[in-house]
Amino acid sequence: MNQVPFTSEKVNFPNPLKDYVVSNKSVLDNFLCHNCKDLANDPLICDKCKNLFCKECAGKNNDSNGHEKCDGTFRSLTFKEKEFSDLIKLKCKYKGCEKIINYSKYKKHLEKCEFRIYHCSNQDCTESGLFEYMIAHYEDCLYKLKQCPNLNCGKLFNYYQKDEHLKNCEFRPIECSKCKTKIIFKNKENHLKEDCPEVLIGCEFCGQKVKRKDYIENHAKDASCLKKALGELNKKSDEDMKKKNSQIENLEQFINELQKKLKEDDEKINNLTRWKNMLQQKMEEVQHIVKDIDIEKNEKEAPPLSVKNKIEKVEDENIYMKTDSNFYKKKGNKGNK
Ligand SMILES: [Zn+2]
Ligand SMILES: [Zn+2]
Ligand SMILES: [Zn+2]
Ligand SMILES: [Zn+2]
Ligand SMILES: [Zn+2]
Ligand SMILES: [Zn+2]
Ligand SMILES: [Zn+2]
Repeated sequence: MNQVPFTSEKVNFPNPLKDYVVSNKSVLDNFLCHNCKDLANDPLICDKCKNLFCKECAGKNNDSNGHEKCDGTFRSLTFKEKEFSDLIKLKCKYKGCEKIINYSKYKKHLEKCEFRIYHCSNQDCTESGLFEYMIAHYEDCLYKLKQCPNLNCGKLFNYYQKDEHLKNCEFRPIECSKCKTKIIFKNKENHLKEDCPEVLIGCEFCGQKVKRKDYIENHAKDASCLKKALGELNKKSDEDMKKKNSQIENLEQFINELQKKLKEDDEKINNLTRWKNMLQQKMEEVQHIVKDIDIEKNEKEAPPLSVKNKIEKVEDENIYMKTDSNFYKKKGNKGNK
């Protein structure tokens, strides 16, 4: 009974409790709280002053009761004291409950009385009522969290938001308007773009629009499209070849021009070298001529020989002659031997 999806009202004693006493009011005076003066809820007794308090009131009194303040040692009623207190009978506080309960059992009864009030535990729901009523309420409480039933969604929403969510859920199943298969809303665009067999696609060779399902099955095997495709391919490779050839031609032309230029340069160099050699030769000839002219000039300008010079010259000639005769002599001797 406690595992219900809603909480019970916190069990509170009615206030004042003594109003619910139906019999033996004479005993009542023995169980009045020393602090609040009502019939004590969960009575406790102070060990020092022997006064009785509600559980809530214990230690709260400030007036002196034989000691400064009741601040520590409280005890429950003994068995005998309980028996005595049970002479007090109370009626249940819940409307509809006719039970009369012993004083010491009153709290327990309140906790399980079938007329107690329960509150819906769903967030924002303010519904409350008797147990049976709340069981029924919970079934269709608008604030009950529900999980989206669509695969992969998993979103939680309140019961009253259900319709709105299901209408807009990204993962809701829909029917493809073209192929009529069930798809998920989120995948619709992808389905049309990639999968839907009824969607028209353009053949990249012949440009014809064909349904996707027909494309691979029929059109791609279609002779006219194949022919066209082959033609395109050939045309393409022809164009490529033409382009390459003209590039090669250009290159060859370029190389030829370079070679021609090189040859021309070589010739120029040769001519220049020839010129250089010729010039050098001419230079040498000119230098010779200049030298000869200089010598001639020097001889003409030379002064006449002095006397001393003349003597030296004669002597030189004598020596020369002596040497010369010796020379012949020696030579003759050598010959005789
Ligand atoms: Zn009290
Ligand atoms: Zn005390
Ligand atoms: Zn009751
Ligand atoms: Zn509710
Ligand atoms: Zn959803
Ligand atoms: Zn489709
Ligand atoms: Zn085609």
